[in-house]
Amino acid sequence: MKLVLASGNAGKLKELQAMLGALPLQIVPQRELGVDDVPETGLTFVENALIKARHACAVTGLPALADDSGLIVDALDGAPGLYSARYAGSPTDDAANNAKLLDALRDVPAERRSARFYAVIVLLRHANDPQPLICEGSWEGRIIDELRGTHGFGYNPVFLDEELGLTAAEMQPEQKNGRSHRAKALQQLKQQLARVRLD
Ligand code: IMP
Repeated sequence: MKLVLASGNAGKLKELQAMLGALPLQIVPQRELGVDDVPETGLTFVENALIKARHACAVTGLPALADDSGLIVDALDGAPGLYSARYAGSPTDDAANNAKLLDALRDVPAERRSARFYAVIVLLRHANDPQPLICEGSWEGRIIDELRGTHGFGYNPVFLDEELGLTAAEMQPEQKNGRSHRAKALQQLKQQLARVRLD
């Protein structure tokens, strides 16, 4: 089964491909099929994931998988949230995003810096599929006041998993892929795929 992956984010593509490797699916990044990014005009993660997947289906005629994710910080009323990728402006700049986040939390004490990564993954069989597979996952942590670690992308260096005492950027990719928001959403996807037919 050939699927188009409706994401242009290199960091996410790498993680999704590593985690989906075991499934009997041929996953082709949308860019290889000439699909451009589409404006993410939804007001929720799930709406944006559906918009991206629907666009990729419409252009390619293939089933599409899309992920929409972000970081939710309680002390900032949920920001950067839906706007995580472009928190410090466009185009996406991870270093600027992290600097802006640390600045916004400068006066917030450690015990009030709770946060979570959240991901929705959807699978649309075709552009008009009325019953998409919808999966979600979240990962609890805390925003620290410095950058730690070099692995991965995005807010990894400021997101501390308190159970392990490591930031997401200090974890080896396999360790992050075993406990992340995206990993949990993909676990649900695997369970749903075992129950339904795609063709
Ligand atoms: P989008 O889903 O492409 O709209 O963007 C999600 C944004 O959320 C990314 O650009 C990152 O800034 C952030 N994000 C989502 N998942 C992760 C993660 O696993 N690590 C670090 N940052 C993440």
